[in-house]
Amino acid sequence: MVLRQEESIGLDYLNLYMNRGDTMDREFRNLIAYRVSKNISQQFHIQAIMCQAIIERTNILRHISDGNFKKEEFNIEDICDKALKAVDNTHNLVIMFNNSPICAYYHICCGGSTENSEYLLNTKIDYLRGVTCDECMKNKESENIVDIDLEELESIFECNMSENLMNDFSINNMLKILGKTNGNRVENILVFNEKVKGNIFSQNLNLDSSRFGFRPMKIRFYTKGIGHGLGLCQYGANEKAKNNWDYEKILNYYYTNIELQKLDDFDLDLPLKNKKIFIDAGHGGEDTGYINSLLMEKEVSLEVTLKLKEKLEKLGACVSLSRSIDEYISLDKRIKMIKESNPDFLISIHLNKSKFEGVSGAEAIYYWGDIIGELIGKNILSNLKKNMNIKNRGVKEGRIYILKESGCNGIYCELGYISNPLESELLVDDKFINNIAENIVYSILEYYENNILTSNTKIDKI
Ligand SMILES: [Zn+2]
Ligand SMILES: [Zn+2]
Repeated sequence: MVLRQEESIGLDYLNLYMNRGDTMDREFRNLIAYRVSKNISQQFHIQAIMCQAIIERTNILRHISDGNFKKEEFNIEDICDKALKAVDNTHNLVIMFNNSPICAYYHICCGGSTENSEYLLNTKIDYLRGVTCDECMKNKESENIVDIDLEELESIFECNMSENLMNDFSINNMLKILGKTNGNRVENILVFNEKVKGNIFSQNLNLDSSRFGFRPMKIRFYTKGIGHGLGLCQYGANEKAKNNWDYEKILNYYYTNIELQKLDDFDLDLPLKNKKIFIDAGHGGEDTGYINSLLMEKEVSLEVTLKLKEKLEKLGACVSLSRSIDEYISLDKRIKMIKESNPDFLISIHLNKSKFEGVSGAEAIYYWGDIIGELIGKNILSNLKKNMNIKNRGVKEGRIYILKESGCNGIYCELGYISNPLESELLVDDKFINNIAENIVYSILEYYENNILTSNTKIDKI
């Protein structure tokens, strides 16, 4: 028995659903916490670790948006309590720039100032600008010494500094040959500030001859800072946190002109923003579709279409129609219009007919291999069943011409049987039509909401 709703299921239903919208941490809480555990010292101040949580969440979001997301395996025991706390304290917060999640670069210690993006990436990124970092300037712990053999340098850079060993080689203020005899013996040599006779020098060093040259074999590199220097400096962040800076102030210091955004609020009012949906009301004009004494398929398809349009637009979608009045439009023209509109999703609205009065229910057909069409189709039929008790006749794969030729993701819906007296009676009821439209909208929303990370964020690749 089909239920007749006295009241519209209403947008409350949608709001109820949308308020759930904590997609990011619902999915990735542990992964974010794991990465935070791995990528920043857990000895650090909680505000600095919270910065890292926001960074990791942002990077995951960005990779998902890019289609480059790879989930790594990890043990739940590797998640530190403090990291998990930082994730929960920053629930669903991400760093945005121009409504896209940023490339949240970070490093261990900048050594005194961070760098502009050009330095590392050869491209200017507005939010990755160098800033000074006084805390790092004073940090002796990030200073290091590395001795490198010159022969190692030669092989690393595939160059040859070893030729002409007898050439004069001066290292300012260390060793400098001050003159040679005609026989090419060293006359005098400056050893730091000391002038030493060549023969004395060679005797003292047990050299075989005072006919000598020299070159350094090792070079000692002094470094300050750890990492590439782009974006957030973890050491600086920790020091700032100790000085009562909160995560917001810290992130805004290291990333220029960014915005912190909570994904819960992420286009909550307009969850279908940026979505182009094309609704194709079946038939029209002289082409009535199926008819009976109560209704015509062309009318029902138009009514559903107009309600769908209104509801989808309220949620921010950009909706195009093949027709908004009772007019004949050829299949080829419809396909042309769909192609021009290039929608994210196409819905074609129809009714069905059987020679048996008892046959009832809705079915949906997607074009071969169209996974989105299949998923949304399944949502539609299961919601119509669940909320309106319309029999679910199943989602089928089929070679529907309009789906095939328009080349976009879509679903062809047959929302009921005009040959079934009970369904026909319901289909003339405005509220019933409204509820069908609401369930279709809900089903589309359900699909995109589950895929909110890919649907609502557009990211410029860098
Ligand atoms: Zn620093
Ligand atoms: Zn039809």
